[in-house]
Amino acid sequence: MDFEFATAARIIVGCGRVADLPGIVAGLGTRVLVCTGASPSRHDQLLAALRRPAAIFPVTGEPTVELARAGITAAREHAADVVAAIGGGSVIDTAKAIAMLLGNGGDPLDYLEVVGSGRPITRPAAPCLAVPTTAGTGAEVTANAVLASPDHGIKASLRSPLMIPRAAVIDPELTVSCPPRVTAASGLDALTQCLEPFVSVRANPLTDGLAREGLRRAAAGLRAAYADGGDLAARADMAICSLLGGIALANAKLGAVHGLAGVIGGTAHVPHGLACAALLAPVTEANVRALRSAQAGHPALDRYAEAARVITGNPSASIADGLAWIRETVTLLGVPRLAAFGIGPQDADDIAAKAARSSSMRGNPVPLDHSALLAILLQAI
Ligand SMILES: [Zn+2]
Repeated sequence: MDFEFATAARIIVGCGRVADLPGIVAGLGTRVLVCTGASPSRHDQLLAALRRPAAIFPVTGEPTVELARAGITAAREHAADVVAAIGGGSVIDTAKAIAMLLGNGGDPLDYLEVVGSGRPITRPAAPCLAVPTTAGTGAEVTANAVLASPDHGIKASLRSPLMIPRAAVIDPELTVSCPPRVTAASGLDALTQCLEPFVSVRANPLTDGLAREGLRRAAAGLRAAYADGGDLAARADMAICSLLGGIALANAKLGAVHGLAGVIGGTAHVPHGLACAALLAPVTEANVRALRSAQAGHPALDRYAEAARVITGNPSASIADGLAWIRETVTLLGVPRLAAFGIGPQDADDIAAKAARSSSMRGNPVPLDHSALLAILLQAI
């Protein structure tokens, strides 16, 4: 037994708890930069309640190295000493990148894994507070910020436990207005982010408990939140699933779904959650096959069997039943195949080669060779 565990200092969960935000911000600093989505006016009331002076930095798409540079410039111009994020994973990751650069100086590429210099992050980030408005990424409690580097055709992370937001406010009411397409993509990402840490080579007793409960919440809430966005109980289940998945992945890593999805997201404009959703069943099937041929009775197979029982709600479910549930859910939620985003079989070789070097791949329960990764991609395309 050998593990470490870190998460946000304060995690505040409940309907209406977003009202706590101004007080928390006031306790962290005096000049706040607020990162929001493309329409900051959605949060007018909340922004008005924040202690002045506040500056707004809108994030209109998935973050890039360039966007992080623009963000740090905005933060320095405003002399910000605290960064708040109100939005989805892209907004929160941008805020975390800005807060890290405020604390450490330099350029995003100095610290970016894989394609950057990978310089270690040694100083605390500026205080960062995250308020998710989607239920999916768990970015409010993770230790990394994913940035796309279009020059390199890849997404990579800035990563350090020092980047975990100081506070996270999870208010399920904020996700009620999420359209079905976003609910599907973010919800399937949340499910994946509970399953991958649960079978990861880095799983530990703390992440196991969180991932198990996250899977149970996904089983209860995922289809229901998609069918009726106003179902607050289902929204609460998914908000908690996302939170638990975030803590689990930050402490137990992910696997091949995220290894491949990271490269795909850097290659084409595929929303992260939809890339994960399209890959989830093919990766699960390939992992189970590789585990069975590596070692009869491999412990990760017990994990997959347990996950199958939790997500199906059937105490005698097999791994095959769990896979069938995943496939049915992906279909029910209208997830397109990767070809819908312009990815074709001719891209598979390059994606597989790059994914093999990704950080997430190191959490996968069994090594997958190039031909296994190719087969997964061809199924998902
Ligand atoms: Zn994810």
